[in-house]
This record gives sequence, C-alpha cells and structure tokens, in this order.
Amino acid sequence: VAGLYILATPIGNLADITLRALSVLQGAALIACEDTRVTGKLLKHYGIRARLQRLDDHASPEVRSRIVDEARQAAVVLVSDAGTPLISDPGYRLVREAREAGIDVVTIPGPCAAVSALAIAGLPSDRFLFAGFLPVKDKARREALEALADIAATLIFYETAPRLTKALLAIAEIWPTREVAVARELTKLHEECRSGTAAELAAHYEAHPPKGEIVLLIGPPGADEAPVLDTDALLRDALA
Ligand code: SAM
Repeated sequence: VAGLYILATPIGNLADITLRALSVLQGAALIACEDTRVTGKLLKHYGIRARLQRLDDHASPEVRSRIVDEARQAAVVLVSDAGTPLISDPGYRLVREAREAGIDVVTIPGPCAAVSALAIAGLPSDRFLFAGFLPVKDKARREALEALADIAATLIFYETAPRLTKALLAIAEIWPTREVAVARELTKLHEECRSGTAAELAAHYEAHPPKGEIVLLIGPPGADEAPVLDTDALLRDALA
C-alpha cells in the first residue's frame, strides 16, 4: 500500500525486529536510510532485496521531494541506522513534508534506546523528558542541565562513552543527591544498567572506562532538594 512507513530497526540484537517490520521492508518499493551499508547489512541478514536511497541530515530538498512523490504511488520506508527514526536521527523534515503533501505516514514501531533504558532503570517512569544528546562543551553542558532543573520528571539523554564521566561529574556538581542511571549496550552481549549518585557512577566509570552506546538517566527532583514551590509559605500567607 502506498505511503511513507517510519520503521524501527534493532538497536543491537538483530532479532529485535517485528514481523510487521519485516513484511513492510519486503514489500517496499524504496527504502530511505541514513547509511546504505548499515541498512544493507540488516536487509542481507533477513534476505530482503530492495532499492536503497540515502537520506541523512544533509539531504537536499530535491531528494526529499522525490521520496515524497514516490510515496504517493508506492510503499516507501524510512529507517535509520538503529532504533526509531527521528529520535535523535534524521527524518523530521521528510515526515513534515509528506504530511503536508497528504501522504499517508504510517508508524511501524519497534526499539528505541531511550524508552528501553527507562523501562529497566528503576527510575520514575510516569513522567519523562527525552533531551537528546548533551552539549559537548563544559559550559554549554552545564547550562543545558541547569535549564532542566525544575522539570518534575525523569530526564533521559543519549551520551557517548568517551564523554560519560565528564557528564556525570557535571551532574554531580548540580544535583549531588539525585539518583542517576547509566544504561549501556542495550540488547547486546554486554548490556548493563547501573544506578547510584552521579559521583558514585563517575568514580566507577573512571576506574572502568565504558565502551559502547549509552543512555544516561537522571531521576526527578527529590524531597531533599529546594522545592520549586514553597507550599508552607503559600499556606502561611493564605491563612494570615
Ligand atoms: N534512533 C535511535 C533510537 O531510537 O534509540 C537513537 C539514535 S542516536 C543517533 C544513537 C544514540 O542512541 C547512541 O549514541 C546511544 O546514546 C543511544 N543508543 C543507541 N543504541 C543503544 C544501545 N543499544 N544501548 C544504549 N544506548 C543506545
């Protein structure tokens, strides 16, 4: 069926792909992907042959409009290198333009590292804020974290192994008491999820430099932190 299919692929373990995803990939007239080699490997693993078109963050408007045109008459699939497209991955402009053109945009859901990490970290999961990658520079990182100080939700970031300890040390300075979790290599051989204060985790990863892919989670403000709203004072004023 014609349309644009936004299809999630594995984040490590190649078996994490849905039956529906495989059948949509099988029937695709065109698969738009971040990197044709990465997607080529996945397709080869499942014995699927398809026409691939590179679509990354630098794709020209012409490339996108050709993909949208094709989706009017055929099944066009968008995948990224891993996980759910558009989640810290390309695709936002393509989806907008397809919707504006009246194309059916269909989700084929599956793995997402942020949600998978939240599901195992043991942090409050009723409210969360996914904030993508933290800035690399110290000052920008600090400002980005401080801007989220009052959010009453678990914060979720993507991080790289070489930057993890620095990020944890920055968090330790701002929120010494909050519970933090590091989810690493999800669905892979060395999957781990470790929690503690940011200082504890920083000490651990300084001693054991981490490898692989990482999701960093920070628990919501606790009762021990200065409340955003001073309810005692409000009550006193109301009764005065
Ligand atoms: N679209 C993907 C998703 O749905 O999760 C995320 C793409 S983003 C460019 C890549 C980042 O996701 C990595 O740097 C890492 O922070 C996180 N990530 C991806 N796979 C992961 C895994 N297996 N374990 C932990 N984190 C992972």
